[in-house]
Amino acid sequence: MVVAETIRDVRRAVREARERGRMVRLVPTMGALHEGHASLIRAARADGGFVAVSVFVNPTQFGPNEDYRKYPRPIERDLDVCRREGVDLVFAPAAAEMYPDGPRTRIHVAGMSETMCGASRPGHFDGVCTVVAKLLAVVGPDAAYFGEKDAQQLAIIGRMVRDLNLPVEIRGCPLVREPDGLAMSSRNVYLEGADRRRALALSVALAEARRAVEGGERDARTVAADVRRRLEAADGVALEYAVAVDPDTLEDLARIEDAVLVAVAARVGATRLIDNVLLRGLGGRGAGG
Ligand code: AMP
Repeated sequence: MVVAETIRDVRRAVREARERGRMVRLVPTMGALHEGHASLIRAARADGGFVAVSVFVNPTQFGPNEDYRKYPRPIERDLDVCRREGVDLVFAPAAAEMYPDGPRTRIHVAGMSETMCGASRPGHFDGVCTVVAKLLAVVGPDAAYFGEKDAQQLAIIGRMVRDLNLPVEIRGCPLVREPDGLAMSSRNVYLEGADRRRALALSVALAEARRAVEGGERDARTVAADVRRRLEAADGVALEYAVAVDPDTLEDLARIEDAVLVAVAARVGATRLIDNVLLRGLGGRGAGG
């Protein structure tokens, strides 16, 4: 496994892989790798070719009062995970390698970046889009892999890639949970004491939403309102939003037809958590009237 800290070394490794006729896959991460990340790496490996993982805690997607400094950075453990998962290349640049002249150019996907998490994290998705565009430009992969855990991010990146005609396929991968239902996240290490148990309220409320929709409920506002009510009543949970939207456009849905993304964000103690259920292929059936 090659570990590269510079763009030059990444390009050399990718060029060699291409010369050997291999397809190139990229899994962008901020490190502190867990089973969710491992599932993306496995999806990339299953598609075959040369698998690159980037590990970069991107400063431009953190707000001034967010956890950029304290975000976990267990690089040696991350490299072990990548070796174990058969990764070919890890790109772990310093911030100065990615932003040598400071960040000036920013990509903004209008309309989709201001809602949901964008409402409380202004500029967050511009930072994400810009760094993902840079990583795509550095690596030049045939496909890049993103988790449905960050469903808004996945939708926005899909739109950016289409709008800019970037020659890469974006693959979404299912959300991976802890055995008790908590969505895996590098930030779960922040959950202390009773907060770890309180955090289960999110996945429990979303499991109810899934049951309702699978049982035929087709009124998106009812689904969102039920999730909201449950989380507002949950002990130690400060709800930020609960919505039922179109997973591709992130627009509010009235009626659930083919697909729905039911997504929430909440604070549990000092930790901000997101979770969602993504239901596709519902086919407009159901007893919802
Ligand atoms: P992060 O390191 O949190 O920026 O995440 C890197 C990638 O891993 C993103 O595409 C995330 O959506 C994905 N990811 C993070 N947690 C999970 C999870 N629990 N299940 C699936 N994918 C995940």
